[in-house]
Amino acid sequence: MRREEPIGRSFRRFFCEKLPESGEVEIGDQEAHHLLHVLRMKVGDKLELFDGRDCSAAGVVEELLKRSVRVRIESKSRVSVELPFRLVIAAAVPKGDRQQFMVEKLVELGCTELWPVTYQRSSVKIEKKTVMRWRRYVLEASKQCGRNRLMEIGEPISSREVFAADVFAGDRWLADPYSSQPLELSGGPSDSLIAVGPEGGLTEEELGTAREREWRTGHLGPRILRLETAAMAVAARASLLAD
Ligand code: SAM
Repeated sequence: MRREEPIGRSFRRFFCEKLPESGEVEIGDQEAHHLLHVLRMKVGDKLELFDGRDCSAAGVVEELLKRSVRVRIESKSRVSVELPFRLVIAAAVPKGDRQQFMVEKLVELGCTELWPVTYQRSSVKIEKKTVMRWRRYVLEASKQCGRNRLMEIGEPISSREVFAADVFAGDRWLADPYSSQPLELSGGPSDSLIAVGPEGGLTEEELGTAREREWRTGHLGPRILRLETAAMAVAARASLLAD
């Protein structure tokens, strides 16, 4: 079901992976820490829980424990605000704080999956902890924007693997500032994988492989965008098409 009404912002949202239909549920770890020590919520306060797989529930704080919180579920429903197609962005990793910015904005714009890619000219190393951190950013952004499904963060992958022919069954696009065609995800919503390169751009070898494997290339206007801006611009085009 798609949401008919604008998202009500009155209740704080918390992630709860195993959300029962009714009764009580205990939330722990970072979510409980946020509720107890950052927001200092009280018994009787209303909140919203979501499970990351399209369901959310209205709830009330029942009991505050030392490291967890018991919540009474009042009603659970399936509420999807997802794009009607799979939108995967295979992006190089930006520097520093720009990583959080990129992840947040892609969640808000409805991107389905974000693959952290090492391109030949990538200057930022992807580590296991990068992926863990990005998953935390996904959770925080989903709480804020009312999305009930979590954008997936893929395992680190190389550009060689991304450009392999069988990596994706839908449309494959390369965001290329020097393409003669605009990057237009038109012709109806369809599953799309879009590659966004590093600050140094793609190498001739990568461009050649993409062409050989029949990737389409498209530009996003005459200005050179930072990679996180390019990823956002792509997602914004796709979500405008769909929403
Ligand atoms: N000097 C680099 C080059 O020659 O490609 C610029 C790289 S740009 C900072 C980083 C990535 O963002 C690019 O590899 C491309 O995927 C994407 N990008 C930036 N501006 C773009 C534009 N106007 N059109 C399409 N893609 C763009």
